[in-house]
Amino acid sequence: MRQIDLHTHSTASDGTDTPADLVRRAHEAGLAALALTDHDTLSGLAEAAETARGLGLECIRGLELAVSSPYGEVHLLGLWLPEATPILDKALQGIRRKRSERNREIVAKLKTAGYDISYDDVLEVAKGESVGRPHIAAVLVNKGYAATLKEIFATLLGDNGPMYVPRSMPTPEEGLALLQAEGATTAMAHPMLLKAPHTWLKAFVGRLAALGLDALEAYHSDQDDAATRRCLALADQHSLALCGGSDYHGASKPAIRLGRGRGNIRVPYEILEKLLARRKTKGLPLPSTNR
Ligand code: AMP
Ligand code: ZN
Ligand code: FE
Ligand code: FE
Repeated sequence: MRQIDLHTHSTASDGTDTPADLVRRAHEAGLAALALTDHDTLSGLAEAAETARGLGLECIRGLELAVSSPYGEVHLLGLWLPEATPILDKALQGIRRKRSERNREIVAKLKTAGYDISYDDVLEVAKGESVGRPHIAAVLVNKGYAATLKEIFATLLGDNGPMYVPRSMPTPEEGLALLQAEGATTAMAHPMLLKAPHTWLKAFVGRLAALGLDALEAYHSDQDDAATRRCLALADQHSLALCGGSDYHGASKPAIRLGRGRGNIRVPYEILEKLLARRKTKGLPLPSTNR
């Protein structure tokens, strides 16, 4: 069975592999297709596509965009973004500016609490343009405040942690419209990780489906079989396609392997074919390799 991975991160956001290394790893792992879906940036896509071309690997230009909800962040995946995305670029610039303001607030809070950290330390760790809490956590680990990023999130930077600072995000409708404006195929990432009542989630997915959402990410490293089954049922109810990926981040989430997650996920190429069939129905452009 040919396998794919439609959810991965590189050094352009909070992953630790460069886009080129990530693509080489995907090729070595025998994957048939890979989507690079960095948080709030498209800056790794050109390098990934270039490397993939050389290896004959199918590379999908993607993005993971966070939007707001009453139960915390919802993540949307945009896939098959074109090379020129003027509307999205402008919005992402604003989003990254807000990220940077928020990061500075977190660092100031840490300093006040007695931690030895400066914003320059954070920028030194972050290799790309989308900077966030994982980079701040990495600085704290490097300085010996904890052994792992996970520990820093659990004690300081997590959503309920003492150093947490919220950041403003687009609404789900705004986020979806942004991705659709560029002709992306859209998916709700890891729906079952949202700590929302199932009735609310059902209504939310219905709302997005009515607005043209294409898929639910049924296969994900942090969703178990029961969660996957709930996704399949939810997708079925709203006639949505399925999506799947590892959410690989390299060394910042060491238990997650490219294409395999924590060892149990396998996303067949058929998932990609169904997403492309949906693009065809919608009259969206198909990548040259799949025409
Ligand atoms: P931010 O985008 O700056 O709000 O940071 C959130 C990101 O941190 C998420 O997208 C994850 O990739 C990462 N993250 C969240 N929890 C953890 C954790 N426990 N360990 C490592 N990384 C995490
Ligand atoms: Zn991440
Ligand atoms: Fe996510
Ligand atoms: Fe992700």
